Amino acid sequence: MDPIVALMQQVLDDVEDDDSGAPASYIPELAEAEPDHLAFAVVGPRGQIRSVGDDEVAFTIQSISKPFVLAHVLSEIGLDAVMQRVGTEPSGEPFNAISLEENTGRPANPMVNAGAIATTGLVAGADVDERTETILRTLSAFAGRDLRVDESVYRSESSTGDRNRALGHLMRSYGVVDAPVELALETYFRQCSILVTVRDLAVMASTLAFGGMNPLTGDRVVEERVARNVLSIMSSCGMYDFSGEWLLRVGLPAKSGVSGGVLAVAPSQFGVAAFSPRLDRHGNSVRGQAIVATLSERMGMHLLEPHESISQPIVDISETDDGRVIRLSGELGFAAAERVLAVLRDLAVVLPDGSVIHLDARELARTHPAALVALRTELDALPMRISYVE
Ligand code: GLU
Repeated sequence: MDPIVALMQQVLDDVEDDDSGAPASYIPELAEAEPDHLAFAVVGPRGQIRSVGDDEVAFTIQSISKPFVLAHVLSEIGLDAVMQRVGTEPSGEPFNAISLEENTGRPANPMVNAGAIATTGLVAGADVDERTETILRTLSAFAGRDLRVDESVYRSESSTGDRNRALGHLMRSYGVVDAPVELALETYFRQCSILVTVRDLAVMASTLAFGGMNPLTGDRVVEERVARNVLSIMSSCGMYDFSGEWLLRVGLPAKSGVSGGVLAVAPSQFGVAAFSPRLDRHGNSVRGQAIVATLSERMGMHLLEPHESISQPIVDISETDDGRVIRLSGELGFAAAERVLAVLRDLAVVLPDGSVIHLDARELARTHPAALVALRTELDALPMRISYVE
């Protein structure tokens, strides 16, 4: 068995017996979910999907749609225009709280219902169908396959969505929502009713993990800056009123939904998703969280752990007839530039002045401009003849 699949199966087995919590009941269709379903998927940089458990079971995406619709409006109108309508602070309140910023009426962030409704209100289109089409196109690009709406969950949501409608009316009274309330709300209910599997969610997460590039299709779905903005908001607000503790304990940007899905992102490493319908009191999947938390712990994925590769590019030194060649690969960030300079300074001590060094940077995967400026400035001060090839 593939060692990663074996590790995933082990994680699944470890959480399987926990039957605490209960499926969401406030939307009648969700209350009928099979509570024992359990699935887990991971997608890495080459776009290979690995999954275990009930990985073919489709469920509605619910709140996990929020970061992806946010990504769409950020791409269309930019961060400042979005932030005029919705904030970026964790609310510390339940996902459906009737709570808006004093005076402006802005919701706290795009991950609570009010903020998501305001965000969905910014999607362009003449009617619900056109707006839903745009959202489906965006989420499908993130997932790498065509997604569709579950009509019966949509009807169930719409027929019980009075609290969300109330939020829509309140925000429209402040001008935070321009669209007619029914248009924004019906689009929002349809967005929440898009069907996905845990494999889809893992691909969607991986597209954010790799800076907006879908590793399955190779398509650029959103700009790197948009992916970064979305991940920042997921880090602080993605797990309802458990977001702070989640960041502390698990350390990955994540988003959960009331149908039992959870997705999480290890930037530049993996997109992860889990599915199990029983929820805790915050509305987060009990076993879904346990899966992601265990994976993060076992694979050392906490964002705030030291990650040496950032400060340590690969430096390969070889001797040629033309002098020494230093090949750099990996990432040249600020700390990494410092390491390269340290290697050059050590060489300067042992080599005669005027020695020739070729610094070959063609294999660097990523170079940060400030690191390059620092490196170039210092190169001029060294007593060797250094050629820099990029
Ligand atoms: N459709 C759900 C609602 O707005 C989404 C909530 C969620 O997944 O948190 O009530």
